[in-house]
Amino acid sequence: MPTCIAPTCIALIVAGGSGQRFGAERPKQYLELAGKPVLRRTVEAFLSHPQVTGVRVVIDPTWREAYDAAVAGLGLPDPVAGGASRQDSVRNGLEALAAADGAPDLVLIHDAARPLIDAATIGAVIDALETTPGAIAAVPVADTLKRGSGNGGAGAIAGTVDREGLWRAQTPQGFRFPAIVEAHRAAAGLSLTDDAAVAERAGLAVALVPSKEDNFKVTTPDDLTRATRAIMSSLWDVRTGSGFDVHRFTDGDFVTLCGLRVPHDHGLEGHSDADVGLHALTDAILGALAAGDIGSHFPPTDPRWRGADSAKFLRHAADLVAERGGVIAHADVTIICERPKVGPHRAAMAERIAQILGIEVGRVSVKATTTEQLGFTGRREGIAAQAVATIRLPG
Ligand code: MG
Repeated sequence: MPTCIAPTCIALIVAGGSGQRFGAERPKQYLELAGKPVLRRTVEAFLSHPQVTGVRVVIDPTWREAYDAAVAGLGLPDPVAGGASRQDSVRNGLEALAAADGAPDLVLIHDAARPLIDAATIGAVIDALETTPGAIAAVPVADTLKRGSGNGGAGAIAGTVDREGLWRAQTPQGFRFPAIVEAHRAAAGLSLTDDAAVAERAGLAVALVPSKEDNFKVTTPDDLTRATRAIMSSLWDVRTGSGFDVHRFTDGDFVTLCGLRVPHDHGLEGHSDADVGLHALTDAILGALAAGDIGSHFPPTDPRWRGADSAKFLRHAADLVAERGGVIAHADVTIICERPKVGPHRAAMAERIAQILGIEVGRVSVKATTTEQLGFTGRREGIAAQAVATIRLPG
């Protein structure tokens, strides 16, 4: 950078679409993509970029609840209400940024439905703005282009279009802030295809920045599958961890197992809520991360964990996986005891674990067995649990 002070740069994420083309029950930006909503992945890509100062999202207020759930915990400012068209939505977003204290030097306008945007492309668009008022991510057209003779349909080939110099425009589309605000105000009411077209109309130079094919827009269910595959193939460091735990019976009238309160003629002794199932699973995930054990993260000598809900321990292990950019692929818990009967609670236990981990219930298994009245569990002195977890981390 030629200047000492880095420019402020806000990413304006446009999530106002209703996704009619997708045909799902909710707009595509709120659908799950490899364990996280599409919008959250997009927002995180910009939030984690060192040259991006902040993120603001433009939404259809009808979907405010889905938005809040998707970006929970990210500390974003209030979303901006979108307009009737994408162009209106972007203008609303720009006006909100202009009205805020300290408008940014630069703005990156990005589609919420392009979750696979990479840090290098974001950086290249920002860097290009040092020398030009606009710069967009784009990929050169590689396929030969044909013009069909049919009216809208395919028909016979009427001609071959020279692809020399042709690019497919993506986002982010970056601009010096005051220039794009003026351009959008001047273009209000017109119907232009993207923000670069708005800038071009205002006479601003817009540079093409080579981007990646993976930065495609998730428009159809097939795109969601393609995006899932792309993410999963980047998470190729597959690891399995195991965990084991035992708690002794004591006086009481219920036990806590896999996050559920199960009536019984004894309780379980322990510093926390003595949930053997969640303790074993927490250790399995920590084991897969090679990140110590539950005792090293939550020492039993610490009074903070007296009577604690073990969901907190499991959530912590899941957060460590997320911090590493990974996902939990599967969890399998086996409860070992004569009594209480676990069978009637298995489905609810799996659901509770899936909820704590933030993964689909189809990725969680809870099983139960006895030891044929042998050993300490056979003598009904306590409950044991073992667990296996598989995680996928970025390679
Ligand atoms: Mg324990």
